[in-house]
Amino acid sequence: MAGNRTFTMVKPDAMAAGNMGNILQKIEQSGFRIAALKVTRLSHAQAGAFYEVHKERPFYGELVKYMSSGVIAAAILEKNNAVEDFRKLIGATDPAKAEAGTIRKLYAKSIQENAVHGSDSDDNAKIEGGFFFSALEQF
Ligand code: GDP
Repeated sequence: MAGNRTFTMVKPDAMAAGNMGNILQKIEQSGFRIAALKVTRLSHAQAGAFYEVHKERPFYGELVKYMSSGVIAAAILEKNNAVEDFRKLIGATDPAKAEAGTIRKLYAKSIQENAVHGSDSDDNAKIEGGFFFSALEQF
């Protein structure tokens, strides 16, 4: 059975462009309940740990640098079938390939600076949410 929670970050490009509010509004209007939310900034080491699974990919170094370059908003979201529905809402990794109306189509700048993160599985949603929020901070 699909889980009902996923994890997202509004990434540094979208925060710098002043789009956090627009993105959170679109998320809520698409039926997700915000169960945890904070604005924070990852150190280089923290971004490296968060993206550890991508360590072997050629863009890992650039990705870690970018994700620690400015503030982000981290959030846990609740909805039936959360992981899959949220991936649909954000669209393809590369905004040039994302469908019209998706968050990345609307707000992303490039394949790297692509406005939002969305967990790719229930297991990762739990791990990623736990990276930012203690049990007491998840409602
Ligand atoms: P996602 O699940 O759609 O976020 O995509 P991935 O898990 O494949 O990649 C993680 C993140 O790495 C993406 O959201 C982008 O920020 C970045 N990324 C992915 N592919 C590329 C790429 O080809 N080049 C660069 N520079 N960054 C990438």
